Amino acid sequence: MKPETISIHAANLVKPATGDVTQPISLSTTFFRDETGGYPGGHMYSRVSNPNREALETVLAALENGEAAAAFSSGNVAGMSLFQALEPGSHIIAPDDMYWGFKKQLLTIFNKTLTFDFVDQTDLEKVEAAVKAETRLIWVETPSNPMLKITDLEAIGQLAKRHQLIFACDSTFASPVLQNPIAFGADMVMHSTTKYIGGHSDVLGGVLITAKRDEFWERIKNIQQTGGAVAAPFDCFLLLRSLKTLAYRMRGHCENAAALAGFLRDHPKVESVLYPGHADHPQHETAKKQMSGFGGTFSFLLRGGEAAARQLVNNLKLFAQATSLGGVESLIEHRFSIEGPDSKTPRNLVRVSAGLEHIDDLIEDMGRVLAEL
Ligand SMILES: *Cc1c(COP(=O)(O)O)cnc(C)c1O
Repeated sequence: MKPETISIHAANLVKPATGDVTQPISLSTTFFRDETGGYPGGHMYSRVSNPNREALETVLAALENGEAAAAFSSGNVAGMSLFQALEPGSHIIAPDDMYWGFKKQLLTIFNKTLTFDFVDQTDLEKVEAAVKAETRLIWVETPSNPMLKITDLEAIGQLAKRHQLIFACDSTFASPVLQNPIAFGADMVMHSTTKYIGGHSDVLGGVLITAKRDEFWERIKNIQQTGGAVAAPFDCFLLLRSLKTLAYRMRGHCENAAALAGFLRDHPKVESVLYPGHADHPQHETAKKQMSGFGGTFSFLLRGGEAAARQLVNNLKLFAQATSLGGVESLIEHRFSIEGPDSKTPRNLVRVSAGLEHIDDLIEDMGRVLAEL
């Protein structure tokens, strides 16, 4: 089945006695046992599992062609659970342009138990050279935040197999509709469901999806269920509701981003646009090979430095100046000032999450403020 169909039908696990067509929210934290001590409803306690979470995990696993999924209370804790599942002393090959929250976890939480290198993964020789005896995990993020680098999933899949590494991909920017890393050899896919999957900037969550229910996956499930940073029933309900329109929303996000990126590329106040859909993007061919669309989030660099970038984000009316991405409303952000003084992000970089407003209105707003710079 195709994503449009999976996201509407894969969760129809329960046929409640009341005949509900959509799944009700199960708030009960505990579930009846029978005479033999078993759990006839299939659930024991909601930290371990819950009908809404089970439905969400079923749909997300199906969308990514995985065997199983684990839904968490944030994208950050989804990634953290994977890092926690590694044996102490393990080495990670991480991307140089890595979601800053994960970089911060490695540098400030896992710095005593794990080792890691931040590598430009668009250069396979550099990745190969970073492999050590203790390397266990290669963590890829593609498209990357905020530089929109594209890493070749198939090539990394082959490299990971050759060196017997776990290959995990943060696929948040692509969503399960535009890119399925397991098809290219990834063992695990991570999404911040806060972004495109939630899609309305009103729910925080994350997910890990595994290609195989192996021993490493059991470690992650144990961390999820015993640690308890799980997605709440109402959050799962919201995410399942959002998933039903994900494929359609992604078409709109991709279409608006392409039009905006094209408009900006031709604008004299813009230095360059970082958008994988443009033929001159350094990894455009790789993006074409592994994505069915170029995504709704991109960055651009302004002439006039940080001052111009700040003036732009302050004066737009339809692009909300806020962090995050993937919502129906367009968002814009000066990345350097949120990442802090250690950031390597260019000071004149602005990141845009193209929303689902009409493109004419978005371009009008952008053109008006650019003309004032
Ligand atoms: C937002 C984001 C995360 C973290 O997810 P949260 O839900 O905010 O914890 C991880 N990776 C990427 C690429 C993101 O955009």
